[in-house]
Amino acid sequence: MALPVKRWSILPFAFASLVLGGSIAIAAVEWQVIKVNGHDYLSVDNISKFYQLPADVVPSGAKIQNETANRPLEFVSGSREAIINGARSWLCFPVIEQNGKSLVSRTDLAKTIEPLLRPHRVADVGKVQTVVLDAGHGGYDKGQLSRYGAEKDFALDVVRKLRPILQAKGFRVVMTREGDYFVPLEVRAQIANSARNSIFVSVHFNGSGDDPNATGFEIFSFTPRGAPSTSDSAISSKAYNAQPGSTVDAQSTALSACIYHSLLGHIPEYDRGIKRARFAVLRLTKVPAVLIEGGFLTERGESKLISNKDWRAKLAGAIGVGIENYQALPIKKQPPMIVADYRRETKSAPVEPVRHEGSMKEADASLLQLVGRSALLSQPQTQPQTSTPAPTASLETAPIVP
Ligand SMILES: [Zn+2]
Repeated sequence: MALPVKRWSILPFAFASLVLGGSIAIAAVEWQVIKVNGHDYLSVDNISKFYQLPADVVPSGAKIQNETANRPLEFVSGSREAIINGARSWLCFPVIEQNGKSLVSRTDLAKTIEPLLRPHRVADVGKVQTVVLDAGHGGYDKGQLSRYGAEKDFALDVVRKLRPILQAKGFRVVMTREGDYFVPLEVRAQIANSARNSIFVSVHFNGSGDDPNATGFEIFSFTPRGAPSTSDSAISSKAYNAQPGSTVDAQSTALSACIYHSLLGHIPEYDRGIKRARFAVLRLTKVPAVLIEGGFLTERGESKLISNKDWRAKLAGAIGVGIENYQALPIKKQPPMIVADYRRETKSAPVEPVRHEGSMKEADASLLQLVGRSALLSQPQTQPQTSTPAPTASLETAPIVP
């Protein structure tokens, strides 16, 4: 008679969650949209209350201090730089000040903050069967160069090391190139698009012509429609409205978060951040896609690390853990490990990350209402939208370009 016992044992939980649900409904945070020049913003206070996380705003021109792993949310007035879940993350639009309040664009709440803070709540993270590994450059295209070698060779070596790691975790792995030859970028994307339940992970190393001291990791996913890329300095939304977005933007951002936290958590290189770009391979892929920059070949110390095969194996391992965490999102429905969790794990014995999640779920309806289901669930965004919503339009249907 196991069944009745089981049914009864569920009741107290159902009752408890009803009571809990009721109290949360009363305490639910209301979104207060602030219009600035016709664009929608939310205050940092509002965002902080919604997520029940402390949020700091650093004055304009100040630098975010280097040790950020324990800070959940931090913004810089007048800047797109932010810390989300302890990792540097780049907003689409700068934080602005009005009437003593720091304001963040609604686009960034939907496209940046929500998927980076809670990648496990991104809908439609489907089953991942195939990982398409893309070693950047190849053949005549050497990529960046250091005294130890070329980017094309280091990138290929990393994906060669990563392939058996992923296969051991049960993934099917497809490589866009297996040797030293150039594969056109559209072909790389086609390989990903034609694979079943695939994600696309491109591996590169960085270089800087102007700054020989530039170091660190960064990761890119495709720039949302209507937004500038991280490297674009001029902010004119008109110029970006014509650019299409990605139908899997939230998934790609979640993939960025999973891989980037693992990279930073396992290897203590400088945190350049989670960024956006309209690179061809990101634009042409229809599946969740990221491009990793695993350090600078133009910097003395980092170029030496990159030339070390054991370090590259460590890099491959960290990317593998990130991919595995992404795959687990729809199964575990729990926050993936973040940089602070990995660092704790390496300092002491492995520990289960302690995260406070449970009470958030009931409040989510208000977020969906605000940013629009479409922002979080995938939806084709190839149709350019008008910039002025009708006054009666709900937030759901209004364009989210600030
Ligand atoms: Zn490259």
